Amino acid sequence: MFLETLRAGLAVEFFMGMALYAAIYLSFVRLLRFPRNWLSVSLSPAFTTAVLMIITAVYVSVSHVGFDPFALVASVGIIGVLFCIIAAPAIAFQPALRWVEFMAKHGNYAGLYIILPAGFAAYAVPNVKLLGLLSAVAVIEVVWFIRHRPNNRRPLHPIVDYDLSVLKAQAGGDIKNFARRHGIDELVLSEGAFSWRGCSADTLPCPFNLYVNRLGLNTAPCCREHLAELCHSVAICLKDMDVTHWLEGGSLLGAVRERGQILAWEDDVDVSVVLDSGRTFDQLAAGISAYGEREGLHVDAFKNEGLISISFDRPQAWPFSWERNRMRGEIRLDLAVYEHALSFGEAVLERKSPKAAMSKTESGGFGLAREIVLPTSTIDFAGGNIACPNKPLEYLSALYGDIGEVVYTYVDEAAAETRCRPDTTEAAMGTR
Ligand SMILES: [Zn+2]
Repeated sequence: MFLETLRAGLAVEFFMGMALYAAIYLSFVRLLRFPRNWLSVSLSPAFTTAVLMIITAVYVSVSHVGFDPFALVASVGIIGVLFCIIAAPAIAFQPALRWVEFMAKHGNYAGLYIILPAGFAAYAVPNVKLLGLLSAVAVIEVVWFIRHRPNNRRPLHPIVDYDLSVLKAQAGGDIKNFARRHGIDELVLSEGAFSWRGCSADTLPCPFNLYVNRLGLNTAPCCREHLAELCHSVAICLKDMDVTHWLEGGSLLGAVRERGQILAWEDDVDVSVVLDSGRTFDQLAAGISAYGEREGLHVDAFKNEGLISISFDRPQAWPFSWERNRMRGEIRLDLAVYEHALSFGEAVLERKSPKAAMSKTESGGFGLAREIVLPTSTIDFAGGNIACPNKPLEYLSALYGDIGEVVYTYVDEAAAETRCRPDTTEAAMGTR
């Protein structure tokens, strides 16, 4: 009888250890949606994760027989290292330190490496709660790896013309060696021609941060296609919902300066909307989420920041919808939400988050004169027609100053310098 009670008690402790790790893990991957979208982490979800971590550390290391310092060190140490690996792809969304980029690059399988020290800790520290926690670590990492291992069901896109001249410039002539050195697995050489194993909604995305920002390559042809598709799909949704919208930022710059093309080093699409006719942010977000469900797009809304991000990957069931934040790269459209406001006596459209050099408004937001934007006009972009500000040139100069001057925002300085030559040549030939 006593033995049975003891065994049942141990089983409860084991499963509690597992459940607590699963809770911290989910809370942490949910948190990664902020750095992924270039936002600072909100206080309350960060606080929840920290509290869960403290509860777990105390649960694992304190029992009726006393304090177990080894269990504390093993649990906190292993979770700490693993969470650095898990966070790297989301942090490397912005140009990041080399070691963060290194971990991001290996993020699909690096979590598996933690299983070895976890196994050692489970063997060396006889603590059933710790054993439960470490078992959950191992199960989650193995499942993540199996679900996200690279596959070869990728259509081939030829790399030619402008894309090829930029690739050649960055590779210093030796493309094969360049691809090997930087682990560009998507690049295929066959019969003297280069192709790109393209991403789709069912594969892992191409990691922009490495290819476009760090190595200074052109956005891959697959990603360009999907960015265009996503842009026009969202524009149709906004039209159907009767939401006033316009092309924004780098996308508008491409439409105006590059004659309707996506910037060669583009990593997202920017569209903006204004809340009018009494529509609230929540109503807008709900409408777009419903559209995302129907069309197979992932939607994430950030009310405090006035941002809705819409991604090309398929929406997944919970908890995988949170776990996707571990994924490296994504094809994304950022929908910035503006409101009508008065600033220093002038009618403006105002947003919560800063955008390039957009002026500060009286209330502390960011905005520009309403008459620059409304009523919206239309412009050719990425193979279709889309709404744009009434005065696109004035809009762009409010954001970027002189738009004739090419600025490689977010592209590594040396890589940007290298691509200057092919960019200038292609522009002169009219092929850019
Ligand atoms: Zn791609």
